[in-house]
Amino acid sequence: MKIIRSKIIGFCPGVSNAINNCFPNSICLGEVIHNKAVIDRLKDSITFIEENKIEDFIKNENYKNKEIIVRAHGISPKLEEILKSRGALIRDNTCQNIKKVQNIILQNKSKYKIILIGDRKHPEIKGLREYDDNCLVVNFVMEIENTIKNIIKSCPEDRLMIIGQTTFKKSLYDYFCSLFIKYKGNKKIKIIDSLCSETVKRQKALKKLEKKVDAILIIGGHNSANTNQLRSLCSKTSWVIENKNQIPSMIKLYNTVGLASGASTPEWLVDEIENTLKLI
Ligand code: SF4
Repeated sequence: MKIIRSKIIGFCPGVSNAINNCFPNSICLGEVIHNKAVIDRLKDSITFIEENKIEDFIKNENYKNKEIIVRAHGISPKLEEILKSRGALIRDNTCQNIKKVQNIILQNKSKYKIILIGDRKHPEIKGLREYDDNCLVVNFVMEIENTIKNIIKSCPEDRLMIIGQTTFKKSLYDYFCSLFIKYKGNKKIKIIDSLCSETVKRQKALKKLEKKVDAILIIGGHNSANTNQLRSLCSKTSWVIENKNQIPSMIKLYNTVGLASGASTPEWLVDEIENTLKLI
């Protein structure tokens, strides 16, 4: 079996920064990154608060003088305020790309109706939407064209600002934006290029890789947005796997296998999977 790696492998800068600033005995609000193998290595020294318990923890626990880690996805300003007022020692690992989007919302929310394109359940969007109580979140739905038409029609504001989740699929974001332009009528539409270039680079590298292989293993967390975006872009047979134990038995049927990985997948995990494949 021939194995070819994607040109872009390993942590993105935002994830590298978040991992390098995770110190022992601190408390992290949610998983610091969406990668189980990395979390398993860290959880002896760091307490991770479960995703659906973060708000309760911030509102009800006593963490005065304790080091609290805000992960790369950021946090809502209201929860950050509570943490500060109760004496948490905040280590803010919010990715600079997401900080930039937070600031864009703050600076423009009085002038524009803010429309966020992304997954409302994803921590990045959960945090961003609280920077503007009036913002709308749009994700892919079957009737997207009608949905966008109705949003524009029912929106009293004359100016709309479109902002995408940093890890949103570029082709889909461009499509959404084109629909806003198509149905804008008299409204002014401002489109923000908020997609993370690291994510876009991985998507382009995957498209190049798939021309050279028969099947692709995408290594990353099942809960990682950018990993799942890679899978949805893949036109070859592909699987998302989190570790070597999840390598599908069918892989031996393919002569050339590609390896790609999400932005929160460490290089050592890709090496481990490549070495296992070489033995098949
Ligand atoms: S994928 Fe981009 S936005 Fe997300 S953490 Fe990495 S660098 Fe930041």
